[in-house]
Amino acid sequence: MSKTAPAASPARATPPDPRAPGPLRMLSGDRPTGRLHLGHYAGSLANRVRLHRSYQSFFIIADLHMLTTKNTRADIAATAGLARDMVLDSLAAGLDPQHSVFYLQSAIPEVAEVSLLLQSLITVPRLERVPSLKEMARDAGADEMAYALLGYPVLQAADILGIGADVVPVGRDNAPHVEIAREVARRFNHLYGPTLTVPELIPGGTPSLVGTDGQGKMSKSAGNVIYLSDPPEQVRRKVARMYADPGRVRADVPGTVQGNPVFVYHDEFNDDRAEVAGLKQRYRAGAVGDAEVKERLAAAINRFLDPMRERRARFEASSGLAEELIVTGTEQARRQVQQTVAGMRRAMGFTAVFSQLRGSRLSAPGAPATGGADGI
Ligand code: ATP
Ligand code: MG
Repeated sequence: MSKTAPAASPARATPPDPRAPGPLRMLSGDRPTGRLHLGHYAGSLANRVRLHRSYQSFFIIADLHMLTTKNTRADIAATAGLARDMVLDSLAAGLDPQHSVFYLQSAIPEVAEVSLLLQSLITVPRLERVPSLKEMARDAGADEMAYALLGYPVLQAADILGIGADVVPVGRDNAPHVEIAREVARRFNHLYGPTLTVPELIPGGTPSLVGTDGQGKMSKSAGNVIYLSDPPEQVRRKVARMYADPGRVRADVPGTVQGNPVFVYHDEFNDDRAEVAGLKQRYRAGAVGDAEVKERLAAAINRFLDPMRERRARFEASSGLAEELIVTGTEQARRQVQQTVAGMRRAMGFTAVFSQLRGSRLSAPGAPATGGADGI
């Protein structure tokens, strides 16, 4: 294989890749629903930052996937600003713009065509068994499920296979979707010959970071988030109000560390491991107040966010940068998907069918005698 595999890469995707040599491709991304928070960082962003320089890294701004929950004109109009925020948050978190192709899904109509060509390769019962479907249906809030919701994993397969991703870093909730992409790719290749790259999963990240209210996972809609873009004072306020051990009424009462959100965050974001170990020991012994544990946590989170704040300020000073990255990235990603769809059409025989019709038609005056095989 002439492509250069990074040291930590999984086994080479099968079947043999007919594409031009180049670095392995990685695809990852999110729906542009708002600013990114510590849950996003722990769940996926940290992993992306760690991996992205080893691959040709594509980051999808999955606005078509938003239609299952937000589909009004106002929702769609808000996407431009949200996409920009998402890119700035990602750059602030440490993605290098030289190594990142950000692209807007809806600006690549060929993604829809890939999705359509895949639809007959998977059954309805298989899609109904996707574990996240019920959760997504609940989030969508409608009495009856939209067709698009059932097809969500097929569209996601089109994103992955259209780009020709070799690897997809995933959190636990997304792994079954990537599994579907692998299944349909294998089925396509079996039916029509080796065409699509079967992507490998790269598991990683914290499956679900608890929210500041301790009630469930950190998420915007639950209002229990610390945003990567929160200023230091806001971080201090949010941490001061955080849920800790409810059974602990005074500082001299021994507290529980296990599952206590304050310590979950200490473990995740405090780089001073000795401080964390000391605080845990004193907490269990009833020898430290919640106030001190939280003050030290706020300081640790602010230390963790400070380099992001500096990078954000630098990137924001360069006006129009995020937009420029999205536009050029989308053009690059579109060329990639166009190449995939042309390959799929050829493999399936559609290209030949139309060429044949074109070649055999009555020659009307002014009509070209033959058509290019790649015309469609
Ligand atoms: P909403 O409240 O609108 O659902 P959200 O804050 O939950 O927003 P999503 O856009 O649903 O954010 O999250 C996108 C992806 O980010 C998830 O699929 C998951 O991989 C990751 N993620 C989000 N929140 C967390 C979290 N608390 N812990 C780990 N990963 C998370
Ligand atoms: Mg969510």
